[in-house]
Amino acid sequence: MKYLVTGGSGFVGSHLCERLLADGNQVLVLDNLSTGRYGNIANLEGRPGFELRVGSVNDYQLVEECVRECNAVFHLASAVGVRLIVDQPVLTIESIVNGTDNVLRACSRYRRRTLITSTSEVYGKSDQLPFREDGDSVIGATTTRRWAYACAKALDEFLGLAHWHETRLPVVIVRLFNTVGPRQTGQYGMVIPRFVRQALAGEPITVYGDGSQARCFGHVKDVIEGIVGLMNHTDAPGKVFNIGNDEETTIMELAKRILAMTGSKSEIEIIPFSQAYPAGFEDMHRRIPDLTKIRNLLGYEPKRNLDAILKDVIDEFRAGQSI
Ligand code: UDP
Repeated sequence: MKYLVTGGSGFVGSHLCERLLADGNQVLVLDNLSTGRYGNIANLEGRPGFELRVGSVNDYQLVEECVRECNAVFHLASAVGVRLIVDQPVLTIESIVNGTDNVLRACSRYRRRTLITSTSEVYGKSDQLPFREDGDSVIGATTTRRWAYACAKALDEFLGLAHWHETRLPVVIVRLFNTVGPRQTGQYGMVIPRFVRQALAGEPITVYGDGSQARCFGHVKDVIEGIVGLMNHTDAPGKVFNIGNDEETTIMELAKRILAMTGSKSEIEIIPFSQAYPAGFEDMHRRIPDLTKIRNLLGYEPKRNLDAILKDVIDEFRAGQSI
């Protein structure tokens, strides 16, 4: 099989490319190398079956060419990270909505199977925990820029499901929960690479709010298992799936665990949300995936717990391979 991976130079995308190549597939990456990094896939260039095409998913002609050459499409290209979303809302909305529309139109033309990566942000401020795929989205005011990301991703989901509904285009939607692991950069705000870097540098660990907010972190390799399994399953199209890990931890507990695992003497610094983020941001208190649907379909079970994830990230930072 030859797969198109949009956003293939990103953190998740690069792990997916490695996995697809290891399985004996060909991979074409379409990426504009903006939030992704060439370094993530530098070791893949030159390998038989791998090709990088530098360009944007906003360019319909280019998207169409790439889709035509491939048998199926993993659409991962997206604006990412709280900072970018709040600071560059036009780029965020345009790249998410236009990019997915372009991918779906080309896939519709050539009848290609498509997997679209969405996000747990789509659940918004819902308090119906754990989040089930058929639960409500609870989105805040349009004057709060953060919600543009959730709404744009929800629109991608509507569009993908609409193609399935009208013409049975095989579209699978996956909602990624907090995904972490080697190669993730802290540059866009993600908490684990930030805390690990701070701990190893002896800098204060910046806990936002009171640290009682909680998240469930999934190892990127477990997430890739789920993504690949869904792409290959005949009953997945036309459906939405959560992917992640359901082990919950508070951010304060996370900070303490990282301090213990690194042996760092860093202080924990409490920073109010109003100082941590620009206006236009609201933090989510808890976010837990209900994994019943993917478990039932694939027998999916995340294999790596939080300690294993932290160990991988700490080892990578210590080896000096991350930024
Ligand atoms: N966070 C924090 N300190 C940081 C970065 C993030 O306390 O230096 C918190 C953030 O407020 C949030 C959680 O960690 O509650 C996860 O943040 P991240 O941006 O990684 O993911 P998301 O908010 O999208 O779940």
